Formats: sequence, C-alpha cells, structure tokens
Amino acid sequence: MQSADVIVIGAGVAGLSTAMQLALRGASVIVLERERIGNGSTGRAAGLLGQLRGNVEHTRMLIDGIEIVRQLEKTTGTEIFVQTGSLRVAETPERAAEIASLVAMGKSIGFDIEHLPASEVAKKLPYMRTDDLLDACYCPTDGHLQPAELVSGYLKVGKDCGVQYKTNSPVIEILHAGGRVQGVRTAEGEYHAPKVVNAGGPWSYLNAELANATLPTAAIGHYYLTTRPDPNHPVDRMSPAIRDRELRLYTRPESGGLIVGIYDAEPDQHNMRKLPVDFDMSRMKAARDSIQVARLLEATNARFPWIDERTPMTITTGIMTFTPDARPFCGEMPDLEGLYHCAGFSGHGIVQSPTIGLIMSQLILDGQSSYDCESIEADRYFELPGYMTRADIERRCFEMAGNYYTKIEKATPVATGHA
Ligand SMILES: Cc1cc2nc3c(=O)[nH]c(=O)nc-3n(C[C@H](O)[C@H](O)[C@H](O)COP(=O)(O)OP(=O)(O)OC[C@H]3O[C@@H](n4cnc5c(N)ncnc54)[C@H](O)[C@@H]3O)c2cc1C
Repeated sequence: MQSADVIVIGAGVAGLSTAMQLALRGASVIVLERERIGNGSTGRAAGLLGQLRGNVEHTRMLIDGIEIVRQLEKTTGTEIFVQTGSLRVAETPERAAEIASLVAMGKSIGFDIEHLPASEVAKKLPYMRTDDLLDACYCPTDGHLQPAELVSGYLKVGKDCGVQYKTNSPVIEILHAGGRVQGVRTAEGEYHAPKVVNAGGPWSYLNAELANATLPTAAIGHYYLTTRPDPNHPVDRMSPAIRDRELRLYTRPESGGLIVGIYDAEPDQHNMRKLPVDFDMSRMKAARDSIQVARLLEATNARFPWIDERTPMTITTGIMTFTPDARPFCGEMPDLEGLYHCAGFSGHGIVQSPTIGLIMSQLILDGQSSYDCESIEADRYFELPGYMTRADIERRCFEMAGNYYTKIEKATPVATGHA
C-alpha cells in the first residue's frame, strides 16, 4: 500500500498537467494510468489552439495557457507551441456577423485580431478556395500545440518534482467511507490519498461510476485527414490554421502537408464499457468507406478542390469526450468529498490543459481558483432531471457534438478585461 496527498487517475494531458501543477506546489502525487502515458485521446489530437472564445473567461484561460507552455519550452528546450496564426472564414452573412462580433470582443480585451479581406486571405493561403468568402478574421498569436511534446514537458517537470507515474495500472475501485474519498484500488493493491482526481478522458464516466457517481460525459468519435507534401500545393510549416465553421472544418500545416478535421453532424458514439480492457486508441483505424470519412472528404474538397479521395493521405480517428454544453467538468461533486473530476474537454483538451492543470491544483490545494470557474464547475448538472441516465446523457452529448461547429457564437465586447 502506498499513499500520497493526491492520486490522479489517467495520464492524458489533463491528468499530467494537474499532477505537475500540484507537485510544483509541493504536494505528493501518484498518477495511475491503465495503459501508456499520453496514449488516450491525447495521442490522437491535432492540437489546434485558437484563443478567442465567445466567453471572455475561457479566452483568458487559453491566453494564460500559452505562458505556461512557454515556460515548459524553456525548461525542456523543446518547441511545443507553433505560432502559425489562424484564420476564421465566413461564407454567409450570419458567419460574417459572427466574425464581426468576435473581432469586437477580441479588441475589447486587447487580443490581437483583425478583419482580413478575401483578397488578403488568398495571398496568405494560395492553396485554399477563397472566391466564395464574404469575410475573414486573422489572429496572428494563435497556432497549434504539439501534443507529444506537451506530454513530454508535463512529464519532465512532474518527474523533477517527484510525481510517481504508474503505467498498466487500471483503477478498478474508488475507496471511500463516510462521504469521503480514501484512495483507489488497482489489481496490484491499494493507493491511499484523501484526494483523487478523475482525469480519465473518455473513460471518465465509468470512473465516476466506480464511486456510484454520475458524470454527464460521452465518448464521441472524431476524424481528420493528413495529406502528404504535394509540390503543386505546398503548405508552409508556418501557414495559418483555418476554421470554416460553415463546412465544419479546421486545418493546420503538418510536415509539408495539411491536416483537415471535421466536427461531423452525426459522429460515431462509443461505449467505453464494451471496449477491451487493454484497448489501445493508437490502433484505431478509420474505415475508408464510412459515412464520416465520406463527409470529411466532401467538405474538404469544397474548400480545397485539389484534395479528393485519390489524394495520398492518412486518415486518423480517435475518441473525444463531450459534455452536454461542450465545457469540461472541473472540481468536486457535493456527495463525495475529495473526488475531483477533470474531464469532458469536448475537442479542446490539449489547448485547455495548461490552465486547467493550474485551476485543478488551486481547487484541490486552496479550495478555490483565481479563475471564474462557474461555467466549468463539476456539479452544474448534479441530480438535474434529464441528465441522470446514460441514455439521456449520451443523447445530449451527441447532439452537442453534432451541432458544435454549426452554432453561431455571439461574442459580447467588454469595457475592460485581461489582455
Ligand atoms: C482525432 C482527435 C483530434 C483532436 N484534436 C484536438 C485539437 O486540435 N485540439 C485540442 O485541444 N484537442 C483536440 N482533441 C481533444 C483532445 O485530444 C482531448 O480533449 C484531450 O486529449 C483530453 O485529455 P484527457 O487527459 O482528458 O484524456 P485522455 O488523453 O484520453 O487521457 C485519459 C487517460 O486516462 C486513462 N484512464 C481512464 N480510466 C482509467 C482508469 N480507471 N485507471 C487508469 N487510467 C485510466 C486512459 O487510459 C487515458 O490515458 C482531439 C481529439 C481527437 C480524438
């Protein structure tokens, strides 16, 4: 039997960042991972980092996260953040109005953002169709995080601060008595701690069930393609990322080719309980004849006419964790003291993880955070009718995932804020 101040279940970016921040403040931490480090959703991610959200506090979290990453880069001597800049494009009046509101909100908090006429977009992105665009905006400080390098950074700092990482150690029971957490059990034995963090990604709802709790997350499939370098359509390493919400697409450069991902209208749903105990997400293969791949190729071809089903490419698929409102669950539930959830990043866990780790460490060690966490509190659906059965939860998360890119954001400018 071993003990620590905090046990973290799951060594994806959420668990690793939380463990690192806790250890930086002197807490003793054990991370238990059912398989290999960073081999869940984290190992499949494209890593796109767009800082501007419709919500000012979420924007601030992402801006601050870059500072944490810059510090990690200094410590490890590795490039994690590739600051390519990013573009959002609009092909309808509604999307143009959305861009106008984002530009106004961004400027009101001192964020670097500009309108970009379609002619300028064409100059920046000669490999993209632009003749149908009504407007675009450009954020020069956006880019992408390299997930493997981010994992290495969290791991290095965590190890230096004494975090213990145990792989091939699935947690099979959460120990509790009298309304308080006491630790966890694995096949090898018990680990005792007064605080346990459920950072189990797509498995997070099953981990909650180990403590008889309900966590409204669901496991949703996601796809992107990566083209090989094409001399006729060169993609510079520092080419800006693109978001085309009307076509549900995002892109970024990758090794001379292009990653193009889709937030599909009807994504796959996964039942994590039915997957083998030794399920390895890196071995998931996308069926080339699936409807999701067909829709990805169709939408990609509409924006990049030189990419079609004959283009040399790989297709990556993996599992994300969605919530009913696409915001994560971070913190304790009212019915079990010491059990903290940190899951449900709805396609943004890589980029949210630097600040989320900091927030989790504050909640666990101080009982409160320097960030306004209302919108990500773990108990916001606690015992709410319509969110208690697995079928209801899955339906709501699935709807949110399917509508995620099509909803129009209404950003509100603020008089003062954080730059
Ligand atoms: C195809 C794809 C593309 C994506 N693109 C982006 C992107 O561009 N930008 C972005 O920010 N995000 C992206 N994401 C989302 C991102 O990958 C996730 O939000 C993020 O990795 C979540 O991290 P996590 O630590 O919560 O989960 P995970 O990385 O899944 O880690 C959870 C870990 O917990 C372990 N675990 C679970 N239960 C137990 C247990 N009982 N005992 C022990 N261990 C356990 C699992 O084995 C796993 O390693 C993408 C995801 C996919 C699938």
